[in-house]
Amino acid sequence: MSKDVYVFIEQRDNKIQKVGIELLGKARELADALGQEVVGILLGESVKSETPVLFKHGADKVIVVEDEMLKEYVTEPYAKAIFEVIKENEPEIVLYGATSIGRDLAPRLAARIHTGLTADCTKLDIDEESKNLLMTRPAFGGNIMATIICEDFRPQMATVRPGVMQSVTVDNPKSEVIEKKVEFTAADMNVTIREIKKSESKKKDITEANILVSGGRGLGGPEGFDELDKLARELDAEISSSRAAVDAGWIAKDRQVGQTGKTVRPELYFAMGISGAIQHLAGMEDSDLIIAVNKTEDAPIFDVADLGVVGDINAIVPKLVDIIKKEKA
Ligand code: FAD
Repeated sequence: MSKDVYVFIEQRDNKIQKVGIELLGKARELADALGQEVVGILLGESVKSETPVLFKHGADKVIVVEDEMLKEYVTEPYAKAIFEVIKENEPEIVLYGATSIGRDLAPRLAARIHTGLTADCTKLDIDEESKNLLMTRPAFGGNIMATIICEDFRPQMATVRPGVMQSVTVDNPKSEVIEKKVEFTAADMNVTIREIKKSESKKKDITEANILVSGGRGLGGPEGFDELDKLARELDAEISSSRAAVDAGWIAKDRQVGQTGKTVRPELYFAMGISGAIQHLAGMEDSDLIIAVNKTEDAPIFDVADLGVVGDINAIVPKLVDIIKKEKA
């Protein structure tokens, strides 16, 4: 009999990734609806000390598998360890972040366990009658939202992109750490990591930023981002964009906000020369405060903006930079 909602807790360099914390929040809600528990799966070489934060954010139990083979993410040892955890415990649901690691791991496990997997879910709910997991994701190029169920196989598995779910903080009296041993052999390590070279980017991932200054087609060209950069620097913000600016080659794809980009929830979101297409709004409308500047009075972005300025960004952005500089002086 399968039970409990499991979350694969991603760590890199022993640091718990935010997406795992966000997924625990959703898992808490799903487990409460099922009257079951939330269980984290944490793998690494020496990661047990990281478990307290998981209980604070919704886990009742954490299964920890420690082994030197799990120090860095490698598909086979990670898949083997999680497969053993799933086989032994028979979870009802398993959630993974739709990160490069989750996207590699989850399909492999789905095939090995012989169950279904819904990728890139934007919404997860429990069906009141059947108690099945309702997994909703954009389909047909984002033109419809499809709700998918996995009726006949367990666990029901889904990946969710970072930033989509909201973390919760709970006062949970439960905090059970279960240490599981997995026997690895040399044959489980089918790759050799010779060297890890980290990219030297000073840029923060846009899903982690507190303030985002986002530019759209209204910038008129890649040079439009130079002015936005000045504003971002003054505010200690990150630059993001609409898809139009990415498609035009003005900015890298990893900066794109929206349905086919990233979902962000910063404290402050500037939408500069962005019309507010539904696919863009899907990625930013939950921001705490939205300030939009657009020369078209009836641009849809103003429907979600807390503060809207009708005007030309070429005139407004430099003025804004000057004012902030003066305020800071
Ligand atoms: P536009 O819609 O062209 O808007 C430009 C705005 O700038 C206008 O409102 C204009 O009034 C204003 N403007 C122009 N000049 C100035 C000026 N000087 N000063 C002030 N304002 C000015 N889009 C995304 O952003 N993210 C996604 O993830 C995404 N996914 C998609 C998925 C699918 C399946 C599809 C079909 C579309 C997707 N899109 C996405 C595209 C989306 O539909 C829009 O085409 C896109 O968001 C438009 O970008 P924009 O607002 O920058 O450009």
